[in-house]
Amino acid sequence: MVSTRRATVASRTLADQLRPIVHVHGVVRAGDNVRVDVERGRARIQSGRIAFDAASVLADAGDLAPAFERTLEAFEQTGTASTPRVTTLKKTPIDATALVLAWANTDSTPRDPARRLALRVAGVVGNALLSRAATETTTGISLIPWKRAHCPCCGASPDLALATSSRRTLICWRCDTRWRTDQRGCIGCGASGSPAIVRVPSPYLGYELAICNSCGRYLKERRGALTHELLVERTLTAGLDEAAQLRGLRA
Ligand SMILES: [Zn+2]
Ligand SMILES: [Zn+2]
Repeated sequence: MVSTRRATVASRTLADQLRPIVHVHGVVRAGDNVRVDVERGRARIQSGRIAFDAASVLADAGDLAPAFERTLEAFEQTGTASTPRVTTLKKTPIDATALVLAWANTDSTPRDPARRLALRVAGVVGNALLSRAATETTTGISLIPWKRAHCPCCGASPDLALATSSRRTLICWRCDTRWRTDQRGCIGCGASGSPAIVRVPSPYLGYELAICNSCGRYLKERRGALTHELLVERTLTAGLDEAAQLRGLRA
């Protein structure tokens, strides 16, 4: 019980600390960068295809430099990035759209710290834009018929799952779309039960790392609802990703 309480306090502290980044994310999300053909997207989902091409949405989002700069400042303000590193990045000529596209297509974390920071900042911007496009597309339609393991909006994989005794909801790592699945086992290959699936509990975080030994995929899963914004939940559980990736697993 004590550790649960301590974990709650720790996650609240992190949520407080990240508030400026969550705020900028909301501002970018509410801005006018996203142009998406909602009717076309909905028709595509209803015929079993993904709604939009994430790269096109991002490439068509206009000048992303102001959003990138504001987000970088929030990183500095929260102490998520050190001032010298932020200063270095500010002096570097950057193409915000290219960075956001690199984030959207990335499957590995770069070793270079400056590049890593740039991609993390770009990730907040890209996620804000894609989650806006996804919300516009899916508001008012049911995603219940969508039973696939990839996102109905952008086609990416889920990184988080919320489980109750009767259902499992998947959340897209890239655009935050949530959809339900009947799949209880591995979302990569369908394997279920031990020894294929290993569940590593992390009670301190309230998450489980579900690892598939058959295909090498992993998923961060928790019981019940989220406590914080997705951005905070992902930061809170970043250590689980590191642990999984050190074992050679992929999301
Ligand atoms: Zn998505
Ligand atoms: Zn698998």
